[in-house]
Amino acid sequence: MNSRRKFLQNTALGGMLAGSSDFWIRQAAQFDRPEKNAFPVVIATWGPNLKANEAAWEVLSNGGRALDAVEAGVKVPEANPRDSSVGYGGFPDREGHVTLDACIMDEFGNAGSVSFLENIKHPISVARRVMEKTPHVMLSGEGALQFALSEGFPKEELLTDKARQAWEEWKIESNYKPKINVERHDTIGMVAIDAQQRIAGACTTSGLAFKMRGRVGDSPVIGAGMFVDNEVGGAAATGLGELVLRTLGSFLVVEEMRRGAHPQKAVEKAIRRIVQKYPKEVEENQVGFIALDKKGRHGAFGIHKGFNYVLYQRNENRVYEAGNVLG
Ligand code: ASP
Repeated sequence: MNSRRKFLQNTALGGMLAGSSDFWIRQAAQFDRPEKNAFPVVIATWGPNLKANEAAWEVLSNGGRALDAVEAGVKVPEANPRDSSVGYGGFPDREGHVTLDACIMDEFGNAGSVSFLENIKHPISVARRVMEKTPHVMLSGEGALQFALSEGFPKEELLTDKARQAWEEWKIESNYKPKINVERHDTIGMVAIDAQQRIAGACTTSGLAFKMRGRVGDSPVIGAGMFVDNEVGGAAATGLGELVLRTLGSFLVVEEMRRGAHPQKAVEKAIRRIVQKYPKEVEENQVGFIALDKKGRHGAFGIHKGFNYVLYQRNENRVYEAGNVLG
């Protein structure tokens, strides 16, 4: 049986076995073989991010650094006006302003982040400058904008006609309620390991559509939206940021892997922690994690069905359905 058919069968079976850790470990293990060509490798949240993986792979396959790869990768949805959850074209807050959050980490444990940043198309690159050019980790709002402008980033209008229209429609009822996997894509979180086994991660988002002005989610918070430790691996999150912030999800995933857990076990642990602690809130909200460990093994898991991810490894770039705990 060819591997694609086998995979599809496994995925269907996976639906029936939602929550069964062993099944998802076996699925992740199909790509494990760390001894053979595991590197480079890049993983990102959500199926539509195949192109982001391609941009990262371009860097990785030319012997480049993981940090450059994740930056190049997540810039793809940041620049895409059709992606309503990231960068340019992102849905605005309830007052009509597009506000962006992003963070990045390198193999040395350096980190940079921006939150509540407006009018800059590539917040991930500003986050990288914060990491490399300031003594700080995080800049916010007006200060982040001033820094970006001083670094030569152009000031741009990020609200597209489509996003403005969606906002106008939303205003009629002004009913704020996040919806599970509404467009089957969302924040991009990405983790890469290059040929020299350097690990880096990036995460970037326009946050929840029509959020309160000033609301910042998990995505720019190191340890919540993304975390990397070069000795262990990396993880990133998507979904309702409040649930990830309260559990410091990406840090938890990496710490589980540090204790020896397979990345699949580690992401499941973080999802189950959220479900156990916030049983009411998880009923209607999604969270998903992706992870890579130092051996090049991966894991992915969500609260609900519908979370998927893209993995580029051994010259193959594909979308996979993640397991879930609630079906
Ligand atoms: N995690 C993002 C946030 O809460 C949004 C998302 O991934 O849907 O801002």
